[in-house]
Amino acid sequence: MYNYTHIQSSGVTDAKKEITMKKIIAMMLALMLVMTGIAVFTSCENDTPEETTTEAPTTEEATTEAPAPAVIKMATNAYFQPYEFYDGDQIVGIDAEIAAAIAEKLGMTLEIVDMEFDSIITAVNEGSVDFGMAGMTVTEDRQKEVDFSISYANGVQSIIVKEGSSITCADDLYAEGASYKVGVQLGTTGDIYATGDFGAENVTTYSNGNEAVLALLGGDVDCVIIDNEPAKALVAANKGLNILETAYANEDYAICVKKGNSELLAKIDQAIKDLTADGTIDAIIAKYIK
Ligand code: GLN
Repeated sequence: MYNYTHIQSSGVTDAKKEITMKKIIAMMLALMLVMTGIAVFTSCENDTPEETTTEAPTTEEATTEAPAPAVIKMATNAYFQPYEFYDGDQIVGIDAEIAAAIAEKLGMTLEIVDMEFDSIITAVNEGSVDFGMAGMTVTEDRQKEVDFSISYANGVQSIIVKEGSSITCADDLYAEGASYKVGVQLGTTGDIYATGDFGAENVTTYSNGNEAVLALLGGDVDCVIIDNEPAKALVAANKGLNILETAYANEDYAICVKKGNSELLAKIDQAIKDLTADGTIDAIIAKYIK
């Protein structure tokens, strides 16, 4: 475009020509620098991302990077097979998988925090976690402390006894003159109902079902009242135990959030509805409960 050959062909003397040429070259270089600058500036205005890295970006697209998905924290007690339990150092199970599916619907990454069952509602209310999910039964007392989602599963309180026990059905626990020692998991509905029915003096609390079952095997208690699916897992893992055919109570499991967190609750409810409608929740439950 800026043709040097063309300038050389002008009719001036050599000395002058040389000076003139130097001036022209200098001017040309200056002009080229300016043009290059314009070219760089112009390139900054287009949308090609690699050309916008160092200059002040001029488009939304250039400034906004996709943010990492936000983390949503779930509190649980991971000794409650098949709802939540350890597989190596991973917490797996029905609740863990349903929670992961809910988090995915919310565009968030799930983080599971393992704690005592009895600490979950406090953690939710303090805000150290976003929700609690632990095969947690909806009860009127808990509803005063936290808000519950719609139910995603049913629970049953079962009674575990040693083979040959004189307790053969739920009614035996209430029989005239009966004074059985009951083992439960601290803070669970098994604990709450049994304490109400048989008195705190007849109920011993343990931090998980496994400890309660060891106490039963060791003769410290006469039966263990615990949710039916964990009861099945505990009986399968320990010889000499039976689950009574009569249930102690029927319940609904739900997710709890901090009281008043209606925004998160609405999202969780919608996710549960969608995951129920498309069969995801049934498939997860069927994977763990045969
Ligand atoms: N369903 C029982 C409750 O809500 C037990 C739950 C549990 O031990 N994880 O109290």
